[in-house]
Amino acid sequence: MKAGNSTLSAYGTTIFEVMSRLAAQHQAVNLGQGFPDGNGPPDLVQAAATYLAEGWNQYPPMLGLPALRQAVAAHNQRFYGLEVDWATETMVTSGATEALAACLFGLLEPGDEVVLFQPLYDSYVPIIRRAGAIPRFVSLKAPDWGFTRADLEAVFSPRTKLVLVNNPQNPAGKVWRREELDLLARFILAHDTLAVCDEVYEHLVFGDAKHIPLMTLPGMRERTIRIGSAGKSFSLTGWKVGYLTGPAALMQPVAKAHQYLTFTTPPNLQHAVALGLGKDNSYFQELADEMQLGRDRLAKGLRQAGFTVLDGAGTYFLTVDLAASGIEEEDAAFCQRMVVEAGVAAIPISAFFEQDAPKHLIRFCFCKKAETLDEAIRRLTAWRC
Ligand code: PMP
Ligand code: GLN
Repeated sequence: MKAGNSTLSAYGTTIFEVMSRLAAQHQAVNLGQGFPDGNGPPDLVQAAATYLAEGWNQYPPMLGLPALRQAVAAHNQRFYGLEVDWATETMVTSGATEALAACLFGLLEPGDEVVLFQPLYDSYVPIIRRAGAIPRFVSLKAPDWGFTRADLEAVFSPRTKLVLVNNPQNPAGKVWRREELDLLARFILAHDTLAVCDEVYEHLVFGDAKHIPLMTLPGMRERTIRIGSAGKSFSLTGWKVGYLTGPAALMQPVAKAHQYLTFTTPPNLQHAVALGLGKDNSYFQELADEMQLGRDRLAKGLRQAGFTVLDGAGTYFLTVDLAASGIEEEDAAFCQRMVVEAGVAAIPISAFFEQDAPKHLIRFCFCKKAETLDEAIRRLTAWRC
């Protein structure tokens, strides 16, 4: 038999699926894959059910329902002061994952280079390679996950077509600082590249940290696409509704990819997400506050159980430094053992690196109910002490 595509066949099953299956097998508390254990805002769930029952069950327009696209444009204006023409500068996709694939397939040519920052979300590199493009990595190092001008000089070249940035960044919990974005923007302008910004955690930013979309920096508006996800902003990860904002000239080729990837996204869910994006500021503040409480609860419990926890200012995730916790074992082996012996699942951070992976860091997800976090802490404390 002839083989499948060699680029994709080279990858295994994603670590999220692997760890979730293991967690189920061992009745573990699953702090691996990033998903909340609640049911999302009841009004959105009710709206999705009502639209379904009322007959929103056929193909909606390819670029998304006007109601949602208008809500995406208004959300950009409200939170970031971005003026967006909903009819030419927004698009709805089946999750941010599809949005990313549509951007990469729609914008890249074989041989183009893409600058990326490790640790990174696992869908980026396989899709870049499948598009025939070449990834160039900047490796961010714990505990602060920073980078320098020299790091950028080492990866930018005349062949750089696009920069892919995840801010706030999974799994690091890093919220990019203004100076970092400024420096990156200077390289983007100097090399005349495009930028795709995965900003699915835009509303999950804690304390004094502030989310600044790269798109709001001088010179970036006309060369940047930013991506959001209802999964993250409304704690409904199974819905897979994503949305893009970008200049019309970039959205057109991206829409060409979208029309052959999924073409549309369930209309009842789009209506409900439009309602969500229209919620008061207080909703978004409460979401962040609640998530911050989860982060602090888990961090405190892990510290009491003897783990060294790194600071993180955003996302669903926090990082434990095994080496600093006095644990010599490599991250993947430790996570495998922890699921079986302690009954708690986490994700080895080496899975988020394509090369030169650190082996002493693991990621815990804190977007869970207090009792779920407490049970994980109880199990880990009993295991470690
Ligand atoms: N990007 C990042 C950084 C993520 O963590 C996720 C989470 N799954 C996604 C994209 C995908 O989002 P969606 O579920 O909307 O496809
Ligand atoms: N984004 C989630 C995480 O990082 C999971 C996404 C997935 O399972 N593909 O855990």
